[in-house]
Amino acid sequence: MKISEILNSGKVTVSCELFPPKKDDDIDRVKEVVRGISALKPDFMSVTYGAGGGTSKNTTRIASEIQSCGVTALAHLTCVSSTKEEVGQILSGLKEQNIENILALRGDIPKDSVFPSGGQYRYASELVRQIREYGGFCIGAACYPEGHVECARREDDIGYLKEKVDSGCDFLTTQMFFDNNILYQFLYRILAKGIQIPVVAGIMPVTNSSQIKRICALSGTELPPRFKAIVDKFADKPAAMKQAGIAYATEQIIDLISNGVNAIHLYTMNKPDIAAKIMDNLSEIIRP
Ligand code: FAD
Repeated sequence: MKISEILNSGKVTVSCELFPPKKDDDIDRVKEVVRGISALKPDFMSVTYGAGGGTSKNTTRIASEIQSCGVTALAHLTCVSSTKEEVGQILSGLKEQNIENILALRGDIPKDSVFPSGGQYRYASELVRQIREYGGFCIGAACYPEGHVECARREDDIGYLKEKVDSGCDFLTTQMFFDNNILYQFLYRILAKGIQIPVVAGIMPVTNSSQIKRICALSGTELPPRFKAIVDKFADKPAAMKQAGIAYATEQIIDLISNGVNAIHLYTMNKPDIAAKIMDNLSEIIRP
């Protein structure tokens, strides 16, 4: 099923993200994660794409596994380290496996700025255009409520986002955020720019304090003081941090749904038990 149909259905949707194995030996472990999360009956499940493209076949394999568990799959695809021909082959592989949904991403620029592909892509909008020309896929793209780290002016970032959407996107998924007011302001700003496609809100249940500080530093995501206090308080108490992180994510989602944000995406970090706790906390809210 196309994700645009799911998102335009008017109901509250909850989707889950997982990442593929880096090594082929770990494929069975990740398939177990797929089975655990699909048992929760999310509206769709996404699978990320290794930055350098080295694990690309595992993204397709895991997306296929998701669909064989009866859940719609969204395969991420980055372009910055690939050639147009390689991307074309991946699109054919996805089509063969009946995967209809792609999250089209640029990927991070390699640290040494050396592009294995010789720099055939500069921005995700070029990939979106290629997938649209290929035909048959529902296309999502990333957006950043706090601005993308490389873009100095938030307004420019939104202008480029509009160009990306106009190149053929059906929906957007946000970078994680911990302050809902930042998302609400962002939604008003993109609407003012004429972006009207569905926006899926990315929520990260934080269960590890050092990991989240590292991710926030890299992505430019702010920890609001109220949440920073929680992360600091339970830094050395993993079980307490997990409980507090699940409670914070649950509260964030309830506030979002109460304010009309109907599409929620959980960054599960391949932990079905955490996704299960959140779904259970929301059972009367998301499946009334
Ligand atoms: P773009 O939309 O191309 O934007 C990149 C930068 O270029 C921005 O600063 C933008 O403002 C600027 N820009 C865009 N167009 C122009 C233009 N015409 N002129 C000048 N500047 C421009 N990474 C992975 O490796 N694998 C994944 O699976 C993955 N999944 C992700 C899922 C989500 C929901 C999100 C939010 C991010 C994900 N990422 C993933 C990270 C992503 O690849 C990086 O954030 C990357 O740096 C930017 O990708 P993009 O697709 O947003 O790029």
